[in-house]
Amino acid sequence: MSIGEECGIFGVRSGDPTDAAALCYYGLYALQHRGQESCGIVVNDDGLFASRKDLGLVGEVFTEDALASLPKGTMAVAHTRYGTTGNTSRENCQPIVVNHQKGRMAIAHNGNLSNAGALRSELELSGAIFHTSSDTETIAYIVTRERLSAPSIEDAVSRAMDRLEGAYSLVLMSPRKLICVRDPHGFRPLCFGRTAGGTWVVASESCALRAVGADLIRDVDPGEMIIFGPGGPVSRREHCGRAPKKLCVFEYIYFARPDSVIDGRSVHAARVDAGRILAKTRPADADVVIGVPDSGLDAALGYSRESGIPYGIGLIKNKYVGRTFIAPGERRDRVRIKLSAVEEAVRGRRVVLIDDSIVRGTTGARILSILREAGAREIHMRVSAPPFLYPCYYGTDIDSQDSLIACRKSVDEIAAAIGADSLGYLPLESLPGLAGSRDICRACFDGVYPTAVPAEGEGRKNRFEQRLSEREKRGIAP
Ligand code: AMP
Repeated sequence: MSIGEECGIFGVRSGDPTDAAALCYYGLYALQHRGQESCGIVVNDDGLFASRKDLGLVGEVFTEDALASLPKGTMAVAHTRYGTTGNTSRENCQPIVVNHQKGRMAIAHNGNLSNAGALRSELELSGAIFHTSSDTETIAYIVTRERLSAPSIEDAVSRAMDRLEGAYSLVLMSPRKLICVRDPHGFRPLCFGRTAGGTWVVASESCALRAVGADLIRDVDPGEMIIFGPGGPVSRREHCGRAPKKLCVFEYIYFARPDSVIDGRSVHAARVDAGRILAKTRPADADVVIGVPDSGLDAALGYSRESGIPYGIGLIKNKYVGRTFIAPGERRDRVRIKLSAVEEAVRGRRVVLIDDSIVRGTTGARILSILREAGAREIHMRVSAPPFLYPCYYGTDIDSQDSLIACRKSVDEIAAAIGADSLGYLPLESLPGLAGSRDICRACFDGVYPTAVPAEGEGRKNRFEQRLSEREKRGIAP
């Protein structure tokens, strides 16, 4: 089974041994929203790799002692992961470290290969034994095999790129080099910057650069590989322009943090614009606009600005709900523990409620009932994305089509199912406007895939369902 990865990746390269682990720790904290199942850091101490990775949030895995156990080094790579279910998760923690004939390599990956199944069978038939179910190990295998005949690690990576299809933003580390790569479509974001002290930093999102005091230099271009060696960064562009650029539009809608800038477009501005578009195309007569924290807030602001309906704080998210808070087996409604209504803001009012997406419809239904109990008179739900209709093969965890509510019901039927007085989605054709570019992948909304996709039924069914229920059990998901 191929495992989709919504993850955060981070890498550090400095001239002198530095506290690379601490930089990674702060970087991972800033990327925690991209994955809460597991995290890890691998430090390169003069060619020797020391690693620490486990299931849990960054603050749980990297206690003071755990951080102190990592040596100083000139390089490090780190990863935070939105994981899978059950026991396999621990094995799938990243970064992956592999020992191969020419040395050692650590690799961290965000994305999902669309040809992972085919590559994996081919490798298995030629004798490969896999320890994990993640695509990252497949990439590591291909790179190390290519390394047998390639003159350098970067040549091996370049040759591997000829075989990989789909989404891969990577940071990888050899004994002497830190390398970052973005796939030729640029499905997932990746950027780099530098601290005042001259340390190079690579991150999934620019918010993580700022967290370690680094200034954003630029995004890694689709298809580009940057090698941070002893002499400074070197860009290789032989895969640039080989495929049309297709940044995942869901990065702007949901994944990324609003204070990040991806490919020159502020995530906050994209969400505010989505709200403005919703106000124009899906107007409502209402007294207050409220957003579902966190990813609905910016769009709610945009809706309010465009419509002139006052913005209100109608829902409060409890920041302290961690996985340890909810005892296993407790059957309390988790949305209620995580979100509560501000009665003062909604009682007797006609409310526009903005959320970023509806997948199965369960979260929306629960939030609406909380608002009704708090006395909301009417609730007009607006969604800052179009209806989810198709599976994603590039790392967005979308449920199987049987469970996607928009595949089974009309907009009015969904409104009735979640208990809304009206429901409006973002029109599909407004997505390029939101992203500030036409170079986007929106296959989960329109079914137009930029690559060949796996055959029907290949390892996808009900994954979202399993993951959400697993996350719910652990108290991570709403
Ligand atoms: P549902 O209850 O199934 O309709 O899920 C909707 C909620 O899940 C929304 O509030 C979203 O913020 C969140 N969501 C949507 N897509 C994803 C995803 N790929 N991974 C995790 N959460 C998601």
